[in-house]
Amino acid sequence: MIVNANSYVSGRVISTDICIIGAGPVGIALALEFKGSGVRVLLVESGGFERSKLLQTVNRAELIGDPYQQPEYTRRRQFGGTSWRWNNADTRPQQPGVRYMPLDSIDFEPREWIPHSGWPFDRASLATYFERAHQFAKLGPYAYSADAWSGPDLQPLQFKGDTLESGAYQFTGYGIYTERREEFEQAENITLLHDATALEISSDDGGTNVTGLLLRSTGGNDFRVSARVVIVAGGGIENARLLLLSRSKQAKGLGNQHDVVGRYFMDHPFYSQGLWIPTDRTIFDRLNYYDTRQVDNYTVLGRLHLSPAVMRREQLRNFSLILYPRRPHTMTAAHNSFMVLWEAATKARRIPKGLTRHATTMLTGLSHLIPLAQQRLNKAYYYHDLEEGGWSTLPNKSALFNAVEIMGQIEQTPHRENRVTLGTSKDSFGQPRPRIYWYFREDDKESIRRARQLITQEFALSGLGKVTWPEALYKNPGTHHHMGSTRMGVDPTMSVVDEDCRVHGITNLYIAGSSVFPTGGYANPTLTAVALAFKLADHLKQTLGVVPQVTANR
Ligand SMILES: Cc1cc2nc3c(=O)[nH]c(=O)nc-3n(C[C@H](O)[C@H](O)[C@H](O)COP(=O)(O)OP(=O)(O)OC[C@H]3O[C@@H](n4cnc5c(N)ncnc54)[C@H](O)[C@@H]3O)c2cc1C
Repeated sequence: MIVNANSYVSGRVISTDICIIGAGPVGIALALEFKGSGVRVLLVESGGFERSKLLQTVNRAELIGDPYQQPEYTRRRQFGGTSWRWNNADTRPQQPGVRYMPLDSIDFEPREWIPHSGWPFDRASLATYFERAHQFAKLGPYAYSADAWSGPDLQPLQFKGDTLESGAYQFTGYGIYTERREEFEQAENITLLHDATALEISSDDGGTNVTGLLLRSTGGNDFRVSARVVIVAGGGIENARLLLLSRSKQAKGLGNQHDVVGRYFMDHPFYSQGLWIPTDRTIFDRLNYYDTRQVDNYTVLGRLHLSPAVMRREQLRNFSLILYPRRPHTMTAAHNSFMVLWEAATKARRIPKGLTRHATTMLTGLSHLIPLAQQRLNKAYYYHDLEEGGWSTLPNKSALFNAVEIMGQIEQTPHRENRVTLGTSKDSFGQPRPRIYWYFREDDKESIRRARQLITQEFALSGLGKVTWPEALYKNPGTHHHMGSTRMGVDPTMSVVDEDCRVHGITNLYIAGSSVFPTGGYANPTLTAVALAFKLADHLKQTLGVVPQVTANR
């Protein structure tokens, strides 16, 4: 059933068994797990089915620290949540879809060189939930090793040392979550209540039980939900913010008796322009494994990452590499400046920083740009098209390419002072905006510098060629993967939720999403967040005494 909250009059009270706040990928997957179970589920969503400019401003945060992307633009308030941003032109629509992989096994381990690391369970114990997440997202088999995706013509690189290993990403199309509206229309025991923003979670005087929510419709009517169980699934910033906003009975916010809510916030900084100049250009005929390609109708992309052995020995954070063959001339300053100006003109549609500098660099490097323009006119493969995949099918690659660009995501340490708090400015509901303190700290910088050295040495030792790195340690501060602000752990003084995602000290309040990750590795987080949602669904079914269904709800 689908209901628009604007049809409710002020003061109304809605009663349900489970109330889930947020219809993004995580809330949608979680709610549909209860289809046909007999449990009454209310899925509350701030937005509707279209993008609303006004609601987007509710995501605006006060940003403090190193430059960080504004969530007003990287989060979406709408049924389907931020998966709508996966469709946005800014995310390069020519890419093959959404990238998935589970966090690596080592990401779950307590690593004595990374303060506050360690999940309460290992990755293997989530295997069945990852498999269910795969079915839900219509992915291929739950397999991410190089062995699973290599073949006679698809061989990963062979290294002499133990610094690097190969693995794979999988992709699905964009509509996996946004196109599930019909399932909610048909589900008798699930109500999707849209245009309803949760302003506060209500609790009893002691703050040990939650009783429901205070909500406001987009039209401005206030009403309440009374629920046996409340699950917050509003995304990696809003989850912390809503606990902090729930302070009628607990002055510091729900679950925040030890001042942990909002702390240890992390993202995955993204770097590009690492450059590998192969010694032997015939290598381009043997790099197919690292192209985006179809295997048994599934889309996969080969990647490299630091080996667990080297991370342990050198005390490093996790680090990933994706390889893109490049043409001569594309790795020049003139081409970089051209790309900055091109993207400013065609995508951002605003004057870029350093306009004069970039224009001068471009003009003085015309000798590099003219051959590229000629290739473009001849409809030859060009810069961005390579990320769509398919370069490995081109003929005569050793003449076509001379360099490989290396890019990838990096693990960020959970730092107590990187955090989400309440700011001083207010959103359109009159609520304090989130304030994000985000700093990229020295231990993370040091880890990147050392990882780069080791990778350069490994390529040289293996006779593969020369690898160099740009001066900047990262290009983007994050990949919009908001993690850690309601972290999981066994110690209530150091974490917000327990291994069942239940808020410490509160019997019936749970958190779903990447905000519960105590560490985040470099993997795109949605697959792990959805797997944890299925684990939570099983826990709640057991707690509420739901009889298991024979038919799968997928
Ligand atoms: C450009 C871009 C590309 C990305 N690419 C990838 C990728 O390739 N792979 C990957 O794994 N991840 C990717 N991500 C990250 C991914 O989008 C998130 O991990 C995922 O959306 C998190 O799902 P979620 O349901 O927890 O939160 P969200 O998707 O943010 O959804 C939260 C929902 O909760 C609602 N909500 C929030 N607060 C309230 C409230 N108080 N009351 C009611 N409703 C509320 C919001 O309106 C929203 O609909 C990308 C993100 C961006 C921006």
